[in-house]
Amino acid sequence: ILPMIFVITPTYARPVQKAELTRLANTLLHMSNLHWILVEDSERKTPLVSGFLQRTGLNYTHLNVQTPKEYKFPANRGVPHGTLQRNLALQWLRDTFSTGASQSGVVYFADDDNAYSLELFDEIRTTKTVSVWPVAFVGGLRYEAPKVNALGRVYGWKALYAPERPFCIDMAGFAVNLHLILSKPQANFQLYGVKTGYQESSLLTGLVTLDELEPKAANCTKILAWHTRTEAPQMLKEDKDRFTDHEMEI
Ligand code: UDP
Ligand code: MN
Repeated sequence: ILPMIFVITPTYARPVQKAELTRLANTLLHMSNLHWILVEDSERKTPLVSGFLQRTGLNYTHLNVQTPKEYKFPANRGVPHGTLQRNLALQWLRDTFSTGASQSGVVYFADDDNAYSLELFDEIRTTKTVSVWPVAFVGGLRYEAPKVNALGRVYGWKALYAPERPFCIDMAGFAVNLHLILSKPQANFQLYGVKTGYQESSLLTGLVTLDELEPKAANCTKILAWHTRTEAPQMLKEDKDRFTDHEMEI
């Protein structure tokens, strides 16, 4: 049987939330043996997300944890988004599957606003430790990518932003074997004192070394994930004349 792909997605309320979740669900619906762990950044599970998940037809787990106000953008620039939410999902995996569990699986952190190729999910399913691949639109570049040598081993990073990072890789650029997550219960994303761009490294340094990484996407020569960001819609008329029904879920 196929290893299960566990997709972990932090999400928060804003006008485009349902549009983003719809687009991501439409991608995930193409894959079999996939479990979506959607973690709301909120005090309570919202009716919008609960209703949405019930209607998708996906296998899912719905969680929530609120990021403390003082760590929210823009009050504290540079504080990573979705950190507590991803860690809660890791905790759920560790609570749900024991170290010796027969469940084979792969864990992928998919933010709700990125674009993902279906090929990516086929690639990551075979991840033994941690797999890596290029991601477009990160680090001030068209793409960042792992450097792969002639033997197919990762030996460094094509990156210009903070190239001294242990892992110069975006959240969308790696997947982790479930049993590695289970066997290293202390490995989590660090919320405090993590510089911009070091979030991924804060987890990965607790899981693997560079030489253990498995290059995917044709030895990291293809782009299968895009760090796209959605423009906030301007709804200037709303304030003026309350033209639309605010009870309408959008
Ligand atoms: N996110 C969140 N709470 C926030 C801001 C973001 O849960 O206050 C989620 C967001 O929905 C996304 C992930 O965290 O899935 C990364 O956030 P964002 O896409 O804004 O980060 P960026 O694209 O700037 O790296
Ligand atoms: Mn994003």
